Amino acid sequence: MAVKIFIDPGHGGDNPGAIAKTTGLEEAYVNLDVSLRLGRILTSWGYDVNYSRTENTSLSLSARAAMANQWGADYFVSIHCNSAINTSYNGTETFYYRERTTAERFAQTVNTALVNQIGLVDLGVKARDLAVLRLTRMPAILVELAFLSNPAEAQLLGTASFRENCAIGIANGIAQFTS
Ligand SMILES: [Zn+2]
Repeated sequence: MAVKIFIDPGHGGDNPGAIAKTTGLEEAYVNLDVSLRLGRILTSWGYDVNYSRTENTSLSLSARAAMANQWGADYFVSIHCNSAINTSYNGTETFYYRERTTAERFAQTVNTALVNQIGLVDLGVKARDLAVLRLTRMPAILVELAFLSNPAEAQLLGTASFRENCAIGIANGIAQFTS
């Protein structure tokens, strides 16, 4: 049976997430675009893919986790962009809920594959108490692709080729971990 990957594009609808001050680019848009690209790649590789949302709609954090649980996902991947008050902050990081779990090793594999593909600073993986990670019953990670608050990274996130590379990097990590 195909491995079931649940993809969660962060924010959406009345919650745009972070917004780039330089370009006005909204996180919810980037998250959805990268998620759909990721899903297309994984589907073409034989994975069974489902999403919390495929349009610009609002969805609670608990609903996202419940959808993944009800579907019986094998892995949960939430896609986000970072933001910080200090506009010089940059790079890629990935969160998981608890240390010394499958999720931590999954986060490490995906984060490394993503950094290898897009070439940004590797901020590593960290344990964090985030609702979608806590409420999901399968290994779950939350990827922060890059910082929308950083002008150079906001510029990158605004290009389709960079977003495709993000999707390829995450897909490579998922394939490495699940094969
Ligand atoms: Zn976010």
